[in-house]
Amino acid sequence: MPTELSTSPARIVSVAVDAPLPGVLDYRDGEFSLSHGDWVEVPLGRRRVLGLVVDPRRLDDLAGRKGSQEIPSDRLKSVALHFRNLVPADPKWLELASFAARYYRKPFGQIAVGLVPKWLRDLKNLTPKKESGPSHLDRLLSKSVDQLAQAAPHNNTANDPQLNAEQLLALGAIDRPGVHVLHGVTGSGKTRVYTEAAHRCITADPQHQVLVMVPEIGLTPQLVARFAAALPGIEIAVLHSEVSERERARLWLLAASGQARLVIGTRLSIMTPMPYLALLIVDEEHDHSYKQQEGMRYSARDLAVWRAQQLAAAVVLGSATPAMETWAQLDKRKYQLLSLPHRATGEPPAAIELIDTLKDPAREGLSHQSRQAIAQVLAQSGQILVFLNRRGYAPVLSCSSCGWASQCAACSIATVLHRIDKKSESSGAGSTEPSRASKWRLQCHHCGAESAVPKFCPDCGDTDLAPVGRGVQRLEDTLAAEFPGARILRIDRDTVRQGKALAAEIEKIQRHEVDIVVGTQMLAKGHDFARMRLVIVADADTQLVNPDFRAPERLFSTLIQVAGRAGRHEQSGAAARVLIQTRYPQHRLYRFLLQQDVAGFAKAELADREAASLPPFSYMAAVRAAYRDETKTRKLLQGLRDELQQFAAQYSWPVTAYGPVARYPEMQAGKWRGQIILESGSRPALHQLLAVVEQWMAQHRELDCHLDVDPVEV
Ligand code: ADP
Ligand code: ZN
Ligand code: ZN
Repeated sequence: MPTELSTSPARIVSVAVDAPLPGVLDYRDGEFSLSHGDWVEVPLGRRRVLGLVVDPRRLDDLAGRKGSQEIPSDRLKSVALHFRNLVPADPKWLELASFAARYYRKPFGQIAVGLVPKWLRDLKNLTPKKESGPSHLDRLLSKSVDQLAQAAPHNNTANDPQLNAEQLLALGAIDRPGVHVLHGVTGSGKTRVYTEAAHRCITADPQHQVLVMVPEIGLTPQLVARFAAALPGIEIAVLHSEVSERERARLWLLAASGQARLVIGTRLSIMTPMPYLALLIVDEEHDHSYKQQEGMRYSARDLAVWRAQQLAAAVVLGSATPAMETWAQLDKRKYQLLSLPHRATGEPPAAIELIDTLKDPAREGLSHQSRQAIAQVLAQSGQILVFLNRRGYAPVLSCSSCGWASQCAACSIATVLHRIDKKSESSGAGSTEPSRASKWRLQCHHCGAESAVPKFCPDCGDTDLAPVGRGVQRLEDTLAAEFPGARILRIDRDTVRQGKALAAEIEKIQRHEVDIVVGTQMLAKGHDFARMRLVIVADADTQLVNPDFRAPERLFSTLIQVAGRAGRHEQSGAAARVLIQTRYPQHRLYRFLLQQDVAGFAKAELADREAASLPPFSYMAAVRAAYRDETKTRKLLQGLRDELQQFAAQYSWPVTAYGPVARYPEMQAGKWRGQIILESGSRPALHQLLAVVEQWMAQHRELDCHLDVDPVEV
């Protein structure tokens, strides 16, 4: 729907560009008759860039802000080109970008134009080389249509088991708009509900589009296969960071034109333009990967809820352990709870047991009971998962004479000893003691710096350097040494760097080419292993004593997820066990875990949070700064804190500013890192203060600052 932007003879239009400008820029329309949502080429300084024509009155974030107002109209530059073959931005999507810009405090143009696939922002692709010939974009568009026509029907799902009563109830509810929390134990058939709901939505209306989000790329192949089976002949666009730039542009355009009916992707897919979006599904909604940790620090889960409400659509937040924020909304009856309390296959949940490592010490990382259990399951040709969320061989290398510990030169943190496995080397066959050969390296997990392993202690010259503690590599060695007949596979970010590679390893496990899997967090999520009969959590204690107020929530969720890997099918069922090695068996978290009482745990956590006025009972924003000089940074942050407190007092805004406090690790890549935390019971009050923060940040560019609204790590 075209909007009259201006009626003056020299028609002026507002254009958003990907630049750190607060508002939009004015240009002369020329003879294009442009309207809200049109894509154009405009001159910006000496460059030519992609621009988006908007009517600022229609976007909250821009109303009242103007960019280049002072320039007299006869000196304004003109729009150079109108890209008629680029689908105009849908007004609802523009509102989404405007909301995100306002909420996460980023310039509108950096969101609306900056988040367009890079390939489309490259004007070379949009303009033909020769006057009459086709542009790269024209070619891409014709390819899209071809491919769409070719989309082959998939095998049908007629032989899927019938939905159970709980699944049917959930599906019925999802037909109605609103926020639906699908709380189901692992294996309860949540994914089946997603595919059925998508099917119903897409068949209900020939235009309807569905957006499905997953926390990690590694989870997409399995999920895509299930959706493809449930939705024969439907064009599915899969969007994640490993999709090539050109392909991402193609899929983005297919979604924007309504041709791609189903989009499956990681957090970045939340900004995909989908004019007929009618259902959103956020799988593992509690997962912190939905929070972007750089640039615009958005929460894709929260934006999904906003987007659903904007469109009066349904959104499903699925999880075995919903986030505390989600429980709080359920308590306020803003969200609706749908429960799947049983495993769909009818298997009982695996029994969780604690092993008190004060009584049964974890020698070489494994307690006596764990060893016995492994031997037993191996004898029955079942599979075992040993979970340890620590990469590398050992968390630190230390001198036994003087106590020296390996540390990163640029960060205030220990460097991790890694064994660099050569490709040809069969995994697990390594020695249990580090040799001084070149295949050992020290790695900083914060800045990525690597260094050689010293031959002598840098402090006392002693040669007696030894690894302290245990990472997955060392645990893998122990397992290989003690269970020589077992086929062992290690999975972590060092062995698997790409989603595709992870999918291949997962298949190996599913084909039973592996007996013992040892791995990190990567393995905890979503995967379905039929023969997994034993899960051992080697060390959860580090997380248990982590001071972050979200640490217990995160650990509980991880443990429930890891435990959910065991005994999902008949082959593994009945005797499936989960053993957790810990020095703190009395910890409250374990009481709820042993009962698998997710709601009870949430209730207890929420009570603590409420007593301490922590989120979700208050709202937070973090102002973070990094600079080489600690004293100066602290002083400046203190100044900001005082200024903020004065402002809050002056206007009676109920906001408290805390800090500055050092972040962990304090030093990273040679810079000291500190932050101020703003906390308030009132979101509007908090947001008003953020304007003051932004001004301050603009005046202190040397500090390398950023603002994080609703931070997940404090
Ligand atoms: P979740 O996503 O909650 O982990 P899935 O949808 O993957 O659960 O289902 C777990 C297992 O149960 C799968 O093997 C699936 O085929 C099976 N399943 C799902 N729904 C049913 C049902 N209604 N009856 C029998 N089996 C089911
Ligand atoms: Zn020493
Ligand atoms: Zn470092």
